Amino acid sequence: MAANHRPAATHCLRGHPLSGDNIKVRLDRSGYLQRSCVACRAIRDAAKKEEVAALTPRRPQLDEKQLRRLLDAHEDGVSKTDLSERFGVSNHAELCALLDEARMLARRAG
Ligand SMILES: [Zn+2]
Repeated sequence: MAANHRPAATHCLRGHPLSGDNIKVRLDRSGYLQRSCVACRAIRDAAKKEEVAALTPRRPQLDEKQLRRLLDAHEDGVSKTDLSERFGVSNHAELCALLDEARMLARRAG
């Protein structure tokens, strides 16, 4: 009898049943069968998606008028933090990109 023999777990760490449709079996690198919990996998995937979404800068769609207002406010000395809040920008890099866009627009307009 193998010294490290343990009865197979019936539930995963989160308490999902390790049976039926909730179980996925695969071979690990050593050739052992690994059972994994489908529900936990879905949770991990969803968490990963959220994480990626949180890291992706939200770039507000500003129309020309808003871009001009943004630039005006910036030139009036409104702080970047205030500008970000006012225009719904998630970070300073995005704010700078929008300001660049606004400057280009102003230059084009002459
Ligand atoms: Zn689970």
